[in-house]
Amino acid sequence: MVETQGRCPLHQDVPHTVMADVEDRFWGHDGTFAYARCTTCGTMALDPRPAPDALGPYYADYYPADRLERAGRAIRAGKFKSMRHRRLKVVARMGGDVIGPVSDLDVLDVGCGLAHFLGALKEAGAKSVRGVDFGQNCADFARDVYGIDVDPGELEQQGYQDGQFNLVTAWHYLEHVYEPDEILAELFRITRPGGCCFVEVPARTPIAWLMGRYWVPLQAPAHLWHFSEDTLRRLFEQAGFEVVRTQRGMQLGEFACSFVMLFTKGLMPKVARKPLSWRALLLAAIALLELPFTMVMTLAGYGGLQRLLARRPNEPAAKRE
Ligand SMILES: [Zn+2]
Repeated sequence: MVETQGRCPLHQDVPHTVMADVEDRFWGHDGTFAYARCTTCGTMALDPRPAPDALGPYYADYYPADRLERAGRAIRAGKFKSMRHRRLKVVARMGGDVIGPVSDLDVLDVGCGLAHFLGALKEAGAKSVRGVDFGQNCADFARDVYGIDVDPGELEQQGYQDGQFNLVTAWHYLEHVYEPDEILAELFRITRPGGCCFVEVPARTPIAWLMGRYWVPLQAPAHLWHFSEDTLRRLFEQAGFEVVRTQRGMQLGEFACSFVMLFTKGLMPKVARKPLSWRALLLAAIALLELPFTMVMTLAGYGGLQRLLARRPNEPAAKRE
């Protein structure tokens, strides 16, 4: 496959401004990229978009074997339970009234990573849980550590049945997919009528404006999109969903990470995975100072995470003569 042009999925023909010379300062791989920003809605799209197989190397460091082994040992020893259940609380608080009791849920988590969220759902008594993620190592981890089936590969390749799940979730997944409208059509197809779909993606905040190409969620080239709130909602509606509600969540350390990336190419390898380095200690200190500001910003509706809960409408009852 070849490079393609990146454009807002809703406003392909309107002018886009360009943010050029964006480096991969998150993982520290070589190369420069650019984002086109839709002048109508503010959605940003990686432009041009390398062919999907050219992006493979940029995903290579997500789940290294030594980290998986350590994480597996810790979870088997009963650690990280509250961390694992944090996302469950987010979903329950936001949509418990429409999603219904956990014991009735057939869940698919798309882009499930190491399946911590599914692990929490299983512990909470969900009827069935399943995941899909590109990496075979995620599938192995989920089976060994949580006893959960994760299908390796892309969502569209799995051939799930129509309406197989009554809760489909996707945490930080939609910003990675090439054709969000096609993915949303597939999410709609596999969601049972009356069932729900929940997503969380990064949201643009005042820190995005302040930090420009050093804004930490940019994560070029893995993040192909930074959706505006309105565009994310309209993509769901176009796919046939009813948007039940949206919410902004708190992203910790957004400024601290962006600031450290000003002088560090490779935030993950050089800082996040070296918690006792001077950079990591500086980051922690700034993140602490930033916390009150982050809380106020989130309360004011400018948190760094955007969440959306949608429902697939019930099929209209057959007409009676
Ligand atoms: Zn747009």
